[in-house]
Amino acid sequence: MKKIIFPMMFLGLMACKKDDSATPSTTTTTTSVDVTSVLKSKVTSDVTVSISGDNIILKSDGRPHNHKSPYWGTSNALYEAPPTGHVVNPNAMLSQNYTMTIPAKPTAASTHEATSIGAIGMALNGVAIYNNQEGPNTELDAGKISSLDGAGAHPEQTGAYHYHVTGTYTTQDDAKLVGFLRDGFPIYGRKDMDGTYPSNLDAYNGHTAPTTEFPNGIYHYHTRNENYLNTGYYILKSGSYYGTKGTFTQ
Ligand SMILES: [Zn+2]
Ligand SMILES: [Zn+2]
Repeated sequence: MKKIIFPMMFLGLMACKKDDSATPSTTTTTTSVDVTSVLKSKVTSDVTVSISGDNIILKSDGRPHNHKSPYWGTSNALYEAPPTGHVVNPNAMLSQNYTMTIPAKPTAASTHEATSIGAIGMALNGVAIYNNQEGPNTELDAGKISSLDGAGAHPEQTGAYHYHVTGTYTTQDDAKLVGFLRDGFPIYGRKDMDGTYPSNLDAYNGHTAPTTEFPNGIYHYHTRNENYLNTGYYILKSGSYYGTKGTFTQ
């Protein structure tokens, strides 16, 4: 894997040398970046990645095998108590059969489709990412927020466990890569790689700038930099996709 990644990154650096003087943060991406190598190297072993033409296909069972949660159940080695003041909801966390298909070279859409309830992306460990909605046009209320575990997630009635807000295991006050949304663009924590909070985010809560994984710049989303009900930072609020949404079946 590394033999493939490093030459590609090096070539990218060389090819973009002449553009180093350009402002990286506000320009619109004119050449799409292929996310395949980074995606393959960053997802956990619980995500199966395959390529189909111009698309990347990710498969997972939707459960957080790399971190603890009260929703694993008290008999599981990955059990941990919910955060203080939180109470688990009655839904069992069940294995899912997720398939997310995204473009390998995501591009801006001419019309930006709104995100909706349900999976809007997949974290690096195969867990679904939801926005701030729990029902149609309904933002999470305090009661539902209190059922989130330390990872900012809970299962719905179908057993599908999903992240709404940032938490112990995804990103907190940092620039970590969280995962990829259904349009193929990556989503990061609240900070950029230089340790600052981005100040030029667009209507989709993203911008084009260098990241640790894409040092030549790529359009990427950031998790919201506002603490909701003093409980967490939404990974994404209701809003629209920057690119064209791929499929997510479960
Ligand atoms: Zn939910
Ligand atoms: Zn950024």
